Amino acid sequence: MLTVKASVVLDVAMVTPPALVHPAATLRGTPVVPGLAFGPVVLVAQEVSPAAIIAYGDGGHPDAEAALAAYDLAAGAVAEGFAGKAARASGAAAEVLTASAGLTRDKGLRQAVATRVEGGTALLEAVHEGVAQFVDVFTAMGGLMAERATDLLDIERRLVARLVGEPEPGVDLPSVGSVLVAADLAPADTASLDPEIILALVTEKGGATSHTAIIARQLGIPCVVGVAGALDLTAGAQVLVDGTAGTVDPSVEVGEAAARVEADKAARAAVESWTGPCATTDGVAVKLLANVADGESARKAAAGPVEGVGLFRTELCFLDRRDEPGVEEQAQIYGEVLAAFDGGRYVVVRTLDAGSDKPIAFATMEDEENPALGVRGLRLAALNPGLLERQLDGIASAAENTGTETWVMAPMVATVAEARDFAEQVRSRGLKAGVMVEVPSAALLADRMLEVVDFLSIGTNDLTQYAMAADRLAADLAHLTDPWQPAVLQLIATTAAAGQAAGKSVGVCGEAAADPLLAVALIGMGITSLSMASAAVRAVGAQLCVVSSDTCRKAAEAALAATDPMAGRDAVRAVVAAG
Ligand code: PEP
Ligand code: MG
Repeated sequence: MLTVKASVVLDVAMVTPPALVHPAATLRGTPVVPGLAFGPVVLVAQEVSPAAIIAYGDGGHPDAEAALAAYDLAAGAVAEGFAGKAARASGAAAEVLTASAGLTRDKGLRQAVATRVEGGTALLEAVHEGVAQFVDVFTAMGGLMAERATDLLDIERRLVARLVGEPEPGVDLPSVGSVLVAADLAPADTASLDPEIILALVTEKGGATSHTAIIARQLGIPCVVGVAGALDLTAGAQVLVDGTAGTVDPSVEVGEAAARVEADKAARAAVESWTGPCATTDGVAVKLLANVADGESARKAAAGPVEGVGLFRTELCFLDRRDEPGVEEQAQIYGEVLAAFDGGRYVVVRTLDAGSDKPIAFATMEDEENPALGVRGLRLAALNPGLLERQLDGIASAAENTGTETWVMAPMVATVAEARDFAEQVRSRGLKAGVMVEVPSAALLADRMLEVVDFLSIGTNDLTQYAMAADRLAADLAHLTDPWQPAVLQLIATTAAAGQAAGKSVGVCGEAAADPLLAVALIGMGITSLSMASAAVRAVGAQLCVVSSDTCRKAAEAALAATDPMAGRDAVRAVVAAG
């Protein structure tokens, strides 16, 4: 049976005046990009258009060749559409769109469709089955590859729209500032959004690492994802979106909403002018650091108010490499990052976190049943010790060449023995050694880990994934992959307390560090540094500079005592407001 979903069409009801009846209750989800926005709802409906599909039927193509010619025409047009949008976009948006254009032209996908059409399957069904075959493959690969499944489904909708003669799906920009509400947004939809018109993004699905979230961060549009009931909002109704609290309020008074949005604008302006250094009102210093991926992102980060790099994800330098670079080339690549932070600042280099969501051709194990729980990160060194040794040589050489203070840490450490072996190798090269706390066992044994290493850095993205047994990229599990989960906070608090007792540095370098409210609680737990995307630094710094260390401690207690993430956010917000 044909199950092709028809195009994503913008509900024309969006231009109708505010409805008299709408859900009064405030909706809640996962806050992704902070900020307040107030405006009418534009619903993006992902609905089948049965009439067009039925009218198209089997397409009436005389033979398989004609059907494939129609497919080629549709695929060409869809790919061109992506490429055109990519040319008008920049950064992450352009990359996502270019990848979608390539995927649409993919020979393997065409072959999957052709095989079915030649076997007598109707074209629309062949497209659906061909795409489904690839979705299954990508989903089975997990991690970042699994995210491509969303792109494929978007491509399928566009191909079907082209074939049945409907306009290609997408968000037709409204002419007045609006809040975009959707089940989930395809990369191509989010990439072409104009932040002047789209005031906020609200999706029913998706987590903090979804495409919607990534693009919203780049555009700086307030964004809340995983909002149950979002699609029940009435098109045209005015809602107040709070990207800090993770709420969508359809019943707020216009006057009150306008006042809150103005206050938020003023607060955001203050954030933009924040220059650091970061300390609480009673003078407790907090190190704010940047997460970087290469020389370019390091130079950009170095221009901001950071005291160094808390996470240099070295594997991101090699995503497109088939062969392992030699020691000299590695030294040159790492040196670019280190050179951006000379003069008293320091850089924490993470050794290859290959595997799972970051497959690296020359390092990753193939055909693992469950790669997130497989041989990834430091575990690869047990099978291939030379890989780690050569990388450490490259890092040591870069440190020597640049003179930048260099710390080195390993990802995915589960045992004290692993930490000890790693630290010995790092120290033998004259560098400071640490490990990431991403596996619950490392958090529970933080005190013993600190007996053998110089510092710890908590990767809250993976720590949350492993503590909650929930894939960090699974859109349907966003309520679990939330670092505000009390169980995750408990593990962070345990680790931070061990750091305080040992007098050693314990930082946070996962996404949690970029949440200004959570940052207050983390500092209250005893965390000594926060490392984040450089775009988030000012908001976190501006927040920490207006609270006392006593407030931070109370915030930590409140967050830890809460029964769920929403309650934790509310409780910490109340503590901060009470000052
Ligand atoms: C983390 O897991 O929180 C982390 C910082 O590492 P990555 O996101 O690169 O896995
Ligand atoms: Mg990690």
